[in-house]
Amino acid sequence: MRDPQITGYTPKATEGVTPDDRITVESRVVACDGGGGTLGHPTVYLRIEQQQVTCPYCSRSYVLREGAGGHDHH
Ligand SMILES: [Zn+2]
Repeated sequence: MRDPQITGYTPKATEGVTPDDRITVESRVVACDGGGGTLGHPTVYLRIEQQQVTCPYCSRSYVLREGAGGHDHH
């Protein structure tokens, strides 16, 4: 996750969606469109490299469910 103090990048807060919004998913690739409606944004595909990824559009965090997303544990 990016540190806004280092990169100067701050995800724009979207009404009704907090940066702490966490959505548990079971796939490493998730499609996010902001939930549609007025909060929506163009669909983007986010890849979870480790345990979570944050959408740059709506700041939602997608958290990979433990044990999901393939069996690449050693
Ligand atoms: Zn999004």
